Amino acid sequence: MNRRTISKEKFIENVELHPMRQQEDTDIAIVGGGICGLATALALHRKGINALVFEKSETTRAVGSAITIFTNGWRALDQLGVASKLRSTAIPITGLHELSLDDGSSQKIPLRSEELRCLKRSVLIETLVQELPASISYFGCQVVTIKSDPLTAFPILHFRDGNSIKAKFVIGCDGANSVVSKFLGLKPAQYLSSCSILGFTNYPHGHGLESESIRMRRGSISVGRIPVDDKVVYWFVGRKWTPQDSDISKDPEMIRESALESTGNFPEEVVEMIRKCDIGSLILTRLKYHAPWDILFGRFTTGTVTVAGDAMHLWAPFLGQGASAAIEDAIVLARCLAQHLTRNKVQAPLQTYVKQRRMRLVKLSTQTYLTGMLLEPSSVIVHYLCLMLLMVFFHDMLGHTRYNCGPL
Ligand SMILES: Cc1cc2nc3c(=O)[nH]c(=O)nc-3n(C[C@H](O)[C@H](O)[C@H](O)COP(=O)(O)OP(=O)(O)OC[C@H]3O[C@@H](n4cnc5c(N)ncnc54)[C@H](O)[C@@H]3O)c2cc1C
Repeated sequence: MNRRTISKEKFIENVELHPMRQQEDTDIAIVGGGICGLATALALHRKGINALVFEKSETTRAVGSAITIFTNGWRALDQLGVASKLRSTAIPITGLHELSLDDGSSQKIPLRSEELRCLKRSVLIETLVQELPASISYFGCQVVTIKSDPLTAFPILHFRDGNSIKAKFVIGCDGANSVVSKFLGLKPAQYLSSCSILGFTNYPHGHGLESESIRMRRGSISVGRIPVDDKVVYWFVGRKWTPQDSDISKDPEMIRESALESTGNFPEEVVEMIRKCDIGSLILTRLKYHAPWDILFGRFTTGTVTVAGDAMHLWAPFLGQGASAAIEDAIVLARCLAQHLTRNKVQAPLQTYVKQRRMRLVKLSTQTYLTGMLLEPSSVIVHYLCLMLLMVFFHDMLGHTRYNCGPL
């Protein structure tokens, strides 16, 4: 692993542009302490660069039960130095299985060279937190606006409690409704007409399932199921969003009822899995996305402000790549800050970061977009056009999982 480090003193010396350094100044402020914010803080920490993380929740937050991580995500986690610890919590998945309950057709894709595991979100978040010095994360700090300092042009973060802080760099890892992407003038994510219900089921005596990721479809309803370990299974139900879902999403019992209602005509083992779920793990979320052209043309950096993770590229989970791409962002961003920072060109690291990430993100968002279009109601022409584009440009369906974001 490449661990070229620069000292904090050197870092400040490099970026010191205004002599009146005040106590509330910081070098790098990361807005949002989700997967991306913590991974970015850890990547910078590994390079010897200090950053402060400002998270609006009062404690670490791991909304949603689990995430699938493919080879590209594991490579990035390897660079962060946390992959082996995480691997011990999740069994390797040996194949992908698509099953249509309408016509009985089935497609199995064995995973030979690809690594796929399903991680509990809480385990990933806690592991990242444990690797970071306690003094760098601030909870209960909601950023409400960002402004440019009229004297230095450096960003100033304003918090809900009335405090503010000057930063040399601001990295927005603040998810779907990002304040930082608003500052950059990026287009907000758009809603899809579908939603997902996610949860865990714990089988105290073992689930006895194959170590495969299976997705079953009946009509417009899909159910996915992936073992996390020998006893815990992560599952999701995909269906249309309805106006009542705003209320349903606030009550876990109602979420379970809704999932059971949607899957009544699925195999009994699926219904049983949902009935016996861990009620505290349930969430219902409407899917949102940034279109590929928003990512192709988005102005992801202005001055010394940038974005990463969902704040930069929000996708529906059709490829299961959001978190992995966020961890890739973290590696590339920390590498660029460590390698390309000079006193006269403070903006260079962020410009290089955006350049290195853009086409990777455009490709991922295009594949996700086309896959999603096949599931959304559309005309026959649009449907076949999407199918054709997927076959031409993404015939290697798992090609994106073999991407390597490079060394830290
Ligand atoms: C249904 C579903 C299934 C998914 N499945 C997968 C999967 O299998 N694999 C995968 O790789 N990805 C998956 N994803 C995507 C993945 O969840 C996200 O890409 C990932 O969580 C993004 O992390 P993030 O840190 O960028 O954003 P978030 O997780 O949203 O974190 C943002 C953080 O910023 C904080 N914040 C927000 N605003 C402010 C503010 N103003 N001030 C301070 N703090 C703020 C929030 O409290 C939060 O902690 C899925 C997504 C969905 C919706």
